[in-house]
Amino acid sequence: MNVYDSARMADVLAPLGYEPVDAPDGADMVILNTCHIREKASEKVFSELGRLRSLKEQADGGMIIAVAGCVAQAEGEEILRRAPSVDIVLGPQTYHRLPEMVARAARAGGGVLDTDFPIEPKFDHLPEMHAPRGITAFLTIQEGCDKFCSFCVVPYTRGAEFSRPVAAVEAEARQLVAQGAREITLLGQNVNAYSGEGPDGRSWGLGRLARRLAEIEGLAAIRYTTSHPRDMDDDLIAAHGDLPALMPFLHLPVQSGSDRILAAMNRKHTADDYRRVVDRLRAVRPDIAMASDFIVGFPEESDDDFADTMRLVGDVGYASAYSFKFSARPGTPAASKRYGHIDEAVKAERLAALQDLLDQQQERFNRGTVGRTVPVLFHRRGRRDGQLVGRSPYMQAVHVDAPAEWLGRVVDVAITGLTTHGLTGAAPDAADAPVPAEAFSREALAG
Ligand code: SAH
Ligand code: SF4
Repeated sequence: MNVYDSARMADVLAPLGYEPVDAPDGADMVILNTCHIREKASEKVFSELGRLRSLKEQADGGMIIAVAGCVAQAEGEEILRRAPSVDIVLGPQTYHRLPEMVARAARAGGGVLDTDFPIEPKFDHLPEMHAPRGITAFLTIQEGCDKFCSFCVVPYTRGAEFSRPVAAVEAEARQLVAQGAREITLLGQNVNAYSGEGPDGRSWGLGRLARRLAEIEGLAAIRYTTSHPRDMDDDLIAAHGDLPALMPFLHLPVQSGSDRILAAMNRKHTADDYRRVVDRLRAVRPDIAMASDFIVGFPEESDDDFADTMRLVGDVGYASAYSFKFSARPGTPAASKRYGHIDEAVKAERLAALQDLLDQQQERFNRGTVGRTVPVLFHRRGRRDGQLVGRSPYMQAVHVDAPAEWLGRVVDVAITGLTTHGLTGAAPDAADAPVPAEAFSREALAG
């Protein structure tokens, strides 16, 4: 979501004459768009600010330094105090006001702080997209979270759940497609809790929204992230069976396989509830690939609890996953627990065991695609001349020698091998494939 937000900040600043550049050296303004989810992410901010301070001191024409995102939201005052070279601190819900903040910073010589949660959502004030987003694009449809998992800062930094109206989402999706997007990833902290106002004045869920967006001509692929198991409702599950454009890859974090720990995490579902959701998805879309997030070393996690997590991973079988050591975040209920915190060494051991299993599963999954033909959306050039990189329906990177005109097209590719970070494939001869597949077809996916 920070990638999406950063692009939107560039839209907001474009009328002032700012254009994005690749490096901070010599820039008129640098915005650090920050993440607060784990301690490691938020520590990076202060070290990065140290480096920027020296750039600022060397900059002839001056340099405005802004800190945006969730660290800014949570630690705004402290940032201004600890890093006087910072001119502007702004939260994730106020970046539409950046022009005004820039003007205030110029007048006052810095010290601008805006971490409000405005009543009117920023989306009502954001300008049109300034620059095209590319072949694969993000689109925020939902923000914030009301779930209050006991380890998580999101409800405090991003605020309460909010869903954009269907018409606004559809208009932005159509604009993205008109500018060349072929795949859109719908974003939200809790994206499947989406309940936006529909054109009929009623609240629409994510399944219904996906059906609407699937009608957009030229949009080959729809994805969404990140979902909560409790919000996988009947209609959304059914949409996975009905919509070829809805990609058969789902990132559905479970965090733990132990019911005791899931309860302590306030996830409000059991490991078996999760298994049932996966079974139902596989019933309607047998080739769906699953991904997840895991936290190891949550307070009071015993060896047995951890074994339950390993068992769940074994049962589900993941195509990919992210796993983390529990990080005690200020202000969250799990951090304020007085007892039961797990030793770093134990956390590290569990993380290594889990990652080992997940790596094996990922390799097995990738190996399973070798020898098959899968539809691939080419979205960027590769490092080598004449090479393109595409994305399989299962979110695998596929490297293929192919003509540059194939960028933006979905082509059936024979997968030939594995690399460290993805797959290699052979494109059909141009003569055999004069008309590359226009969309991901169900037949190809079922193969
Ligand atoms: N809304 C999503 C997750 C958003 S946060 C969900 O409910 O699943 C992204 C991931 O960061 C989480 O899935 C979790 O695995 C990890 N995470 C969040 N807070 C954490 C913490 N305090 N310590 C370690 N990992 C954390
Ligand atoms: Fe955080 Fe996700 Fe839980 Fe919301 S549902 S509190 S974003 S982990």
